[in-house]
Amino acid sequence: MHQDNPAHRIEALVRPSVRRLPLYDPGADPRKLGTPTVTKLSNCENPLGMSPAAAAMLARQGGAGLERYPDPSGRALRQLIGGQLDIDPARIILGNGSENILELLCLALLDPQDRVVTQQPCFSLHESLPLMMGAQVDKVPLNDDFSLNLPAWAAALQPPAKMLMLSTPCNPVGTALSPVELTELVAAAHPDTLLVIDEAYFEFVEDGADALAILGAQTRPWIILRTFSKAYGLAGLRIGYGIASHPSLIDALHRVRTPYNVNQPAQEAAQAAWLDQAHVVRSREFITIERQRLTQGLQAAGFRVAPSQANFLFIDTARNALEVVEELLKDGIIVKAWREPGYTGFIRVSLGLAEQNQAFLASLQRAVAALAG
Ligand SMILES: *Cc1c(COP(=O)(O)O)cnc(C)c1O
Repeated sequence: MHQDNPAHRIEALVRPSVRRLPLYDPGADPRKLGTPTVTKLSNCENPLGMSPAAAAMLARQGGAGLERYPDPSGRALRQLIGGQLDIDPARIILGNGSENILELLCLALLDPQDRVVTQQPCFSLHESLPLMMGAQVDKVPLNDDFSLNLPAWAAALQPPAKMLMLSTPCNPVGTALSPVELTELVAAAHPDTLLVIDEAYFEFVEDGADALAILGAQTRPWIILRTFSKAYGLAGLRIGYGIASHPSLIDALHRVRTPYNVNQPAQEAAQAAWLDQAHVVRSREFITIERQRLTQGLQAAGFRVAPSQANFLFIDTARNALEVVEELLKDGIIVKAWREPGYTGFIRVSLGLAEQNQAFLASLQRAVAALAG
């Protein structure tokens, strides 16, 4: 049956758990959009760009030394981060984006009989990477007001899970865990469940749990993931880091990674960006103002918006989000339609510059009117 169809022959070679995987949805491709202006608000990038210090460093460096492999241990950056956070650098790992560290965790820890508990709605990789390993993924729904359903979490964690994966602030919702929520979540998990707390939007939080302090007081295994892609504005370079409870977890991740997974310009620009905290502060302040302004505008226009502490908003359009996204594309505005059950009316929009956020709000109102009429 496979003989005469090349696609079928290849499919038969692919692991069943990979065959069933959904493809990652990056949102519409801005390079393919035929409108005069393109406003890309689909990937939670920093509208202020990277730190000027990092940009200057990359320009000065100008590609020198790229004939050499990068430092496979990322020593200088790990020491810089460890020194600042008072963490042994042996407990820190770099990744080709923090997504890469999520992948390494799944490669190193998950067998097909293992179970991972995450949330619904969730960051797609928190589901797809465990599925790639053939593991079972249980998703705990949020309450209607977007808060954590702690009894449902406790029930899901009652049979010991291998891993708990959760982002705070949560992608796509934007809500951050409170100290009480994180403490109760930790208490509900079996002491041998690895806690993976994804803090990709950590730098934007104004009022939330200090995960490093709360988990740091535990003897159980945990890892916190952060990135240079969001507040630091270096998404294109691909670099993130993880802080683990113990160096032995980092050792396991080193075994499954490719040796030169983090390129040298990324390692060096990340150091410059880390040392320029003024840019992070400027970015957080800018995002806070725009987030308040756009939230108020959306609410005044009758939309329900989740309370966000990140650089994006999760909006209930009260209609098929795919149709809304298509309408917005006519104005050159790219946002993401959510596809998980219970959230197919929601879009996630990243905060852009003030005029981009204004254009988005006007376009959304036009889109909804067009779809109603
Ligand atoms: C953006 C994002 C990441 C990571 O991005 P990298 O660019 O790979 O560092 C990780 N987790 C969540 C929840 C994100 O939204």
